[in-house]
Amino acid sequence: MSKKLIKEEEIRPKELFQRYLELSQKDARKFNASSFKRIPCPGCGGDDSEKRFKKNGFQYVLCSICGSLYCSPRPSEEELELFYKKSESAKYWAEVFFPAVAETRREKLFKKKAKQVHDVMEKKDFSPEAICDVGAGYGIFLEELKSFFPSAFFFAIEPSPDLAERCRSKGFETLQATAEQSHVWKEKFDLVISSEVIEHVYSSYRFVASLYELIKANGYCLITGLGYEGFDILTLQKHSNSVFPPHHLNFLSIKGFKQLFQKTGFSNIDIWTPGVLDVDIVKNSPMVDEFTRVLVSRGEKAVTKFQSFLQKYQLSSHVWVLARKKNNV
Ligand SMILES: [Zn+2]
Repeated sequence: MSKKLIKEEEIRPKELFQRYLELSQKDARKFNASSFKRIPCPGCGGDDSEKRFKKNGFQYVLCSICGSLYCSPRPSEEELELFYKKSESAKYWAEVFFPAVAETRREKLFKKKAKQVHDVMEKKDFSPEAICDVGAGYGIFLEELKSFFPSAFFFAIEPSPDLAERCRSKGFETLQATAEQSHVWKEKFDLVISSEVIEHVYSSYRFVASLYELIKANGYCLITGLGYEGFDILTLQKHSNSVFPPHHLNFLSIKGFKQLFQKTGFSNIDIWTPGVLDVDIVKNSPMVDEFTRVLVSRGEKAVTKFQSFLQKYQLSSHVWVLARKKNNV
């Protein structure tokens, strides 16, 4: 990993992010909690949990079996779909926040991530020919992947009509749909990637099962997203800006991710946490704990080493899961 860590401010400018959180908070209050549904654990599927905290009227519980944190009861799938189409915060994200940080994110995140994906595939001695990005957004990540997989074909699945059009305009064959609605592309891909979607979905089981369906036998699935067992979220709990309903509903534990992928039929499941922002996020929070305050006072090197430690022991909240669809026909 590079010595200079990315800073939260670079990819999440404070004022814009604050505005986004305020809008999310307002949107959260518009939901009618009486129609919410209780769900089993999005990781292990178990039904034994204890209340952890409430945020903006949404209850988060902790699974007693696998240690995943999740929002339950939660809005129905239909309500969530409507929310992502119409809400102020979703619009602000797509129209103001993301465009403002798109190029910085391309430089600071997507380029590096594309290389990491390439390295991971090389390690597995696997050359994907057809690659699909589920929740492709502006298509930036696909553009960056192109330079690392020059002979591959690229596809986008993206539910928002505007963003799907963006992907098309960049020359990617695009399906305007959610993963769960993408049956027409069944078993089409060698590699399916989905970045930062899993924390949003109503049913993580149906989401991952849909990714499984899209993959050819012996192909791979790579998801990245937020997990519960990362330093920033474990430390800040309800004060973590990553925990904001109704956008972020699922924070699986490492065990939860593993069981979810096993249940949906995947094998060879690798999980690691290459996140670089945990300490910076806690440091920037008004709820910074004493440990982090003192750690930061030890200087940049101490912070970098500590963040490496978090990566090594699966203690960052930025999680990668790589899994294979076995040929069992
Ligand atoms: Zn669980």
